[in-house]
Amino acid sequence: LVVIPIGGADMPVVVSMLNSYSGWAACGIGFTLSNNLLIITGALVGASGAILSYIMSKGMNRPFINVIAGGWGVEEGTVLDSTEFQGEAIPIQAEEVAEQLRNARTVVIVPGYVMAVAQAQHIVREIVAFLKEKEVDVRFAIHPVAGRLPGHMNVLLAEANVPYDIVLEMDEINPELPNTDLALVIGANDIVNPGAEENPGSPIYGMPVLEVWKAGMVIALKRSMATGYSGVENPLYFRDNTRMLFGDAKTSLTKVAGLLH
Ligand code: NDP
Repeated sequence: LVVIPIGGADMPVVVSMLNSYSGWAACGIGFTLSNNLLIITGALVGASGAILSYIMSKGMNRPFINVIAGGWGVEEGTVLDSTEFQGEAIPIQAEEVAEQLRNARTVVIVPGYVMAVAQAQHIVREIVAFLKEKEVDVRFAIHPVAGRLPGHMNVLLAEANVPYDIVLEMDEINPELPNTDLALVIGANDIVNPGAEENPGSPIYGMPVLEVWKAGMVIALKRSMATGYSGVENPLYFRDNTRMLFGDAKTSLTKVAGLLH
């Protein structure tokens, strides 16, 4: 009954919460049976589950209570009223993306939820292999809550055999972004939202984000101007140095990869 109000995408928090409950239950049984070992192990499981749930909620910049009470913002995929937009998003074609990739000396790839949905990790690896062959400095930037599970992106990249040494955490890559020629944002939205740093009125204000807008150019792959999980508009798409490659991420990347070879 406690988990019924929790939305599907918050499932990882539910799992770690249930883990925590099982620990506290074992701890309680330890008291009734006067079994010290059960009390101690139960308390350890209970506390670690609670700490993990707290860390995950913090990564999403949401109060723990808000997660377990269910839902926030608007439904995923909501297209915002055009009056809320702060300019015009500039579209780009696959041919130009391939050209930009060829000319860049440093590229940072930011994978988001879509890499999982579209299973695009293999085609991304192909693009990376091509860039490495051309001696482009290419790295991945991983946000702690990218996708829908902790470590979601790392698992996908490992599955595609992407070398670990080019997969960097947010704190490692953020200082490098101002020196990056091109940031390729693959179906990520909330985790690259500048509003989280610049707009105190934003519901995600305070959430640590990947500062891709500091790169020379940002290419964002998306199907539309719809919002991400949090339902918050993303001003990144209206920045002068951002270009939008519209369409299904896997189809777009396959086209770009074809043009690179
Ligand atoms: P988001 O959910 O913010 O954005 C994903 C974007 O992908 C959408 O804006 C959508 O736009 C686009 N998209 C969807 N399908 C496709 C497609 N086939 N091709 C191209 N684009 C597509 O993802 P992020 O990874 O940036 O952020 C993760 C969010 O999930 C955060 O808000 C985080 O708090 C939350 N979360 C994370 C958890 C975790 O542990 N990792 C757990 C629970 C929640 P469009 O529809 O226009 O294509």
